[in-house]
Amino acid sequence: MESDAQWPTTIFTKTLTERISSSRVLCVGAGGIGCELLKTLVCSGFQNIELIDLDTIETSNLNRQFLFRKHHVGQSKARIAAQVIKSIKPSAKIVAHHANVKEPQFDLDFFKQFDLVLNGLDNLEARRHVNRLCMAAERPLIESGTAGYVGQVSVHIKGRTECFECSPKPTPKTYPICTLRNTPDKPIHCIVWSKDLLFMRLLGRPDDVTDLDEGSSKAEGSSSVMSAEGQAVLEAEEVAKEDLSTFLRKEGEEPLAYAVRIFEKVYKEDMDHLIGMEELWKKRAPPKSLLLASLLPDIESELKGALKESKPGATACKILGLNNSNQKWEARDNARVFLCSLAMFVSQRSAEVGSMIFDKDDDLAVELVISASNLRSICYDIPVQSLFDGKGMAGNIIHAIATTNAIISGLIVVEALKILSGSLSALRSTFLFEHKKAGNALIRGNMPEPPKPGCMSCGQAQLHLRLDTGTTTLSYLIEKIIKKRLAVCVPMLQCGEFFYEEGEGLEEDEVEMYQGLLGRSLNKLPGGGLHNGSILSVKDEFQHFNLELIISHVSDLEPEDAPEGFILEGAIPVAKSGMEATAAASTTTKASGDSNLPANAARLPAAPAEDEDEDAVVIIVDETAASSSAAAASTRSNKEMDEGALPATSIMTPSSSVAVGSALKRSREQVVEPVASSADKGKLKKWKHLAGDNPDEAIDLS
Ligand SMILES: [Zn+2]
Repeated sequence: MESDAQWPTTIFTKTLTERISSSRVLCVGAGGIGCELLKTLVCSGFQNIELIDLDTIETSNLNRQFLFRKHHVGQSKARIAAQVIKSIKPSAKIVAHHANVKEPQFDLDFFKQFDLVLNGLDNLEARRHVNRLCMAAERPLIESGTAGYVGQVSVHIKGRTECFECSPKPTPKTYPICTLRNTPDKPIHCIVWSKDLLFMRLLGRPDDVTDLDEGSSKAEGSSSVMSAEGQAVLEAEEVAKEDLSTFLRKEGEEPLAYAVRIFEKVYKEDMDHLIGMEELWKKRAPPKSLLLASLLPDIESELKGALKESKPGATACKILGLNNSNQKWEARDNARVFLCSLAMFVSQRSAEVGSMIFDKDDDLAVELVISASNLRSICYDIPVQSLFDGKGMAGNIIHAIATTNAIISGLIVVEALKILSGSLSALRSTFLFEHKKAGNALIRGNMPEPPKPGCMSCGQAQLHLRLDTGTTTLSYLIEKIIKKRLAVCVPMLQCGEFFYEEGEGLEEDEVEMYQGLLGRSLNKLPGGGLHNGSILSVKDEFQHFNLELIISHVSDLEPEDAPEGFILEGAIPVAKSGMEATAAASTTTKASGDSNLPANAARLPAAPAEDEDEDAVVIIVDETAASSSAAAASTRSNKEMDEGALPATSIMTPSSSVAVGSALKRSREQVVEPVASSADKGKLKKWKHLAGDNPDEAIDLS
C-alpha cells in the first residue's frame, strides 16, 4: 500500500476497486448496524465477508433490521442476514457464524485472515475482546455505535491510532429484565416499566410487542438447571402474558370504572400475585400492594365531578388543582392523577386509544406515565419523582433509529475504503450529531488519537490494586477484578512460584489443584502468597493480553471508598502530540458502586460507548447518586481543558446519561451510570471552535 495516498481521489482508482473485491472483511454483529453495514459493503463491491452474531431474530427487531422478515423470527441473525444478502448480491461470498465472537474458534489465526474487522456490536465486553484480538493480530478495527440520532465511528490501527481501550469506557451495570418487570429498585426502573409496558398495553397498539414483553426470561431459561427464582419469574410472566386483554376497556365500561379496574389489577391483584412468588423475596423485601379503597375512600365524589367538568385538552393535574410540577405527590394524589388521566384518555381521546405512542410533549400521557410509575415505586418503597423530573427521565429514553444505523454504516465503509486505498492520513473518528453544529455540519471528523503508551490492551500496563490480602480470596480476585473489571476471558496468573490458569487443555488434576486454590485468601496462596508489593502478572493468551497488577495490602479500606472491597488505580501517560501538551496525567477510579469506569480511566468515556446498537434505549437523566463519579469526571475534564488536551471521544458524552439497553436482544437491561459533567459542554464548544477552523473535516449534510 502507498503510505499516504491522496484521499478522496484514490476512491476512483482501479487499484482500490480491485482491493475492495479481493479484501476479506470480518463483520462482528448482524443487528441494527450489522444489517445496514452488510448491505452497504456488498453495494460498495465487497465480495468476501464473514459474519459473526450469536443472536436470534426477534419480532421487535423487524422495524429496523431490514434484512429480516416476520417468518425469520427465532432464526440466527448471522445466517439469515447472509442468506438475504446473497439473494441481493449472488456473487458475494458471505460466511455466517451463529456464534459468540468470544468462542475459542475465533482466535488470533482466525482474525489474521482478514484485512479489516468491522464492529457492529452492542456490548462493551465483546468490543473489548475484539479490540484485543485486532491489536494482537495487527488488523485494522473499525468500531461503531449509535444511540438515537447520534452515532460514531472510530478507527483503531495498532501502533498508529489509539485502540478501543486506550480511552476509558463506562462499564455498564446490568440488570436482568426481570428487575424491570418484577423487582425494580430505582425510579428509572419504574418509569421504563410504566412507559414501555403499562402505557403501551393500555393505549398502544394491541399487537405492538414492547421491549419488556419479549424474551424476558431467556437468560434464565437457557441454562439447563433453572434457578427457583428463574422459575418464579417465568411463572410471573406467563400470568402477565395471559392477561393482556384485561388491560383494554370493556364495551360500555364507564371511563372511571375502567380506570379503577386497571388500578386494582395492576397495583393490587398483580402485586399480590408477585408477592406470592416467595422465591423472588428470599433476598429482598417483597413489595406491598395498594388498596384503592383506603387511598381514596370516596372515588365517585372525589373524581366524578372533576372529570365531568373537564374540557377537551384539559389535563388531570389541571382538573385536580395539582399545579406544582416540582411537587412529589403522595400515594393519594398519584392515585387521583392515574385514575383521572386514564379515564380522560378513554373518554376524551378514545380515537387515539389503541394506537398511541408515548410522547413527552403530551401532558396527559406524561401524567399517566409518571403517576403510574410513582404508584409502582410506592409498592416497592422506591422514592417517587415529581412530574417535572419524571418527565425528563421518561422523555429522554432514546430508541434506536434505523436512519442513524444506516448513516453510521456508510461512514464505516468510508473509513474502510480509506484503509484499503492506503489513505491512512485521511482516517477520521467520525461523529454524527442530532443537531447541526458550527458550519452547518451534522457529521464531523476528528483526527484519531495516537496510541496511549500505558494502555492495558495496546501498551504495556501496570495497574495498582489495593485490597486486603488477608480476606480477599483468589476466587474474588479472579471473578470481580480480573474477569469483570479487566474483561479478561481466560486468565493466567503468575507471581513468583504461584501459578494459576484456566481454560481448555488442562489435565484433570491441574483443574482440581487450581480449583482448590480459589477459596484461599491471597496471602495464603502457594509460593508465600500475595502481599504488599507483590507484582501479579495477568495474561490472557487467547486475547493476547497482559498486564501487571501491583498489589498493596490495605486492611482498613473504607466501604465508601471501596464498596467492592478493592481500589484499582492506573497511571496513564498521555502522548505528546498535536493539541496535547501534557506530559502525563494520572487518574484514579475507585471501585465504587456508581463509578464503573475501567481502571485506566484517564479520560471521559466515549459516548455512546455502550448499548449504542439498534436495540439500545438510552435514558438521559440527572442522578445525584452518581455525584462522586461525576465529580471525578469533572476534575479530569477541567484538567484536560486547562491543558488544551481534547479527547475526541468525549464529544458526544451527554451531560449525564443512563443507558438502558437491548432488552430485546440480550434479555436484560443495562444501565450506564452518569459519569460526565457540565465541563463537557465547555469542551464541546471548544472543540467546535477548533473543528470549525478546518473546513475539510466538516461534512455538510444540509
Ligand atoms: Zn490501547
